Amino acid sequence: MANLQHRLPENAPGDFFVDTSCIDCDTCSQLAPEIFRDHGDQCSVYHQPESPAETKRALMALVACPTGSIGFTEKHDAHIGIDAFPMHIAEDVYFCGFTAEESFGGWSYLIKRPGGNVLIDSPRFATPLVKHITALGGVDRMLLTHKDDIAAHESFHDRFGTLRAMHRDDGAAKLGVEQVIEGENPVDLGDDLLALPTPGHTRGHVVFLYKQKFLFTGDHLAWSPSRKTLTAFRSVAWYSWPEQIRSMETLLAYDFEWVLPGHGDMHNDSAPKMREHLERCIAWMKTRN
Ligand code: SF4
Repeated sequence: MANLQHRLPENAPGDFFVDTSCIDCDTCSQLAPEIFRDHGDQCSVYHQPESPAETKRALMALVACPTGSIGFTEKHDAHIGIDAFPMHIAEDVYFCGFTAEESFGGWSYLIKRPGGNVLIDSPRFATPLVKHITALGGVDRMLLTHKDDIAAHESFHDRFGTLRAMHRDDGAAKLGVEQVIEGENPVDLGDDLLALPTPGHTRGHVVFLYKQKFLFTGDHLAWSPSRKTLTAFRSVAWYSWPEQIRSMETLLAYDFEWVLPGHGDMHNDSAPKMREHLERCIAWMKTRN
């Protein structure tokens, strides 16, 4: 829980606040944009919650925050935020909340299905979340998009016997990952899941396509609310921007309706619209060399 003594001056006066420990991961401003905003190098409260629905969203942001940087001064039941995760997105796909500082607040997702649940990237190994996931049937598989967002993968493996998949070029073998993805060809993981290697942000970055509908994109691709189209992050193309452009082009061969990133905003539209956005994104990327 945040420290009131370290309340940022940018916060609007009132109950909820962000303190100086904020690492600017943007989880709160993406999850509760009506309450939190990025004011520069950090986030703060610009509008205090005025309804139970807004208070719930602020409490969810508090729980999802990787660094415990969000606090309140009045009385609230924190379980309203805790019990909201995993948060339903669509069909059998959920957002885990409880982001991890080791993953810089990267978002992770749960696919809940009778044949065995799947985690995409790792949330914090927080007791309440683990309890909720246990009640939903545990975690059979964990698909890791890249080395930055693996956080508590070992704890999930130890607790649930989770089988992990990750690309060799991001250190999968060294991490003891059970299913090592190699090369750049798509890998059919079974059960409607496809691994699509997408080098760029890191050398061994992979995106995962589920049901030809949900694309879990890690740090490869996200929605830009300001440009209202898909985007990629030039400043964090740690491995290679030209490679990221090239691997982005390979995604044109696939249909998807959802982009679910680790960082940045998610987005949903028809497959033809998403293809248009992807084409715009690639054209824009080529202007950023
Ligand atoms: S979720 Fe926490 S760390 Fe991330 S931007 Fe908000 S206050 Fe800062």
